[in-house]
Amino acid sequence: IIQASKINKYYGERHVLKDVDLQVRKGEVVALIGPSGSGKSTLIRCLNGLEKHSSGEIYVLGRVMHPNTSHKELSLIRRDLGMVFQSFNLFPHMTVLQNVIEAPMLVRKMPKKNAIEMAEVLLAKVGLAEKKEAYPGQLSGGQKQRVAIARALAMQPQALLFDEPTSALDPELVGEVLKVMKDLADESMTMVVVTHEMQFARDVSCRVAFLADGHIVEEGEPHQLFSNPQQPRTKMFLERVL
Ligand code: ATP
Ligand code: MG
Repeated sequence: IIQASKINKYYGERHVLKDVDLQVRKGEVVALIGPSGSGKSTLIRCLNGLEKHSSGEIYVLGRVMHPNTSHKELSLIRRDLGMVFQSFNLFPHMTVLQNVIEAPMLVRKMPKKNAIEMAEVLLAKVGLAEKKEAYPGQLSGGQKQRVAIARALAMQPQALLFDEPTSALDPELVGEVLKVMKDLADESMTMVVVTHEMQFARDVSCRVAFLADGHIVEEGEPHQLFSNPQQPRTKMFLERVL
């Protein structure tokens, strides 16, 4: 449902994505790993049009995205791709419940009553049913991130994109967020996950792509890539992080 071919991205002179090809099929979990600055965030942001790529084509759910795709078309694409960031990005002045119902009401024109019912189901799913009247400031990082996931799900996306969803969390809170993500994977949610959690990439993803210096250096099934990397760059990286 996502197909990127020969994506290039420049920031000024800086060439940060170099002929990147990436395919994501329905129900797949694809993990993007790689050193800092390798272009992981840029790639995932290009996939939902938060960042414009410089050349190449990205197909998302049957729509083509190219460097001059209109704003209107982009917002249609983004509606179907949920995004979860490292920094949660919740609305601080709204309760948990309001955070979750906002977009479905505004963008999907869902009646408030239905939005609330759905939000309650989703909050229960991420283990936060009892926090619906709390404000983000009253939550732990792990709880905030789980609200952010519920909020993304409230748009009933076709796929979810995660950019280091656990990197800003205290170590003891990482597990609860990964657990929610694993549950989603078990329900065949399509996900692209930029992560430094190698255990998660290994156990949950269907495919791992290793990015270095703007290239996808190697891509494969997690067991194969982790236990028997083919490229020296991959080997070096894994030796450092595992
Ligand atoms: P990290 O693991 O640290 O998050 P990353 O793999 O996500 O790294 P990117 O954030 O995609 O890396 O950055 C790739 C390269 O692009 C880096 O060299 C970065 O400095 C550069 N870059 C990212 N965003 C911008 C920007 N808005 N303007 C200019 N250069 C940028
Ligand atoms: Mg990044």
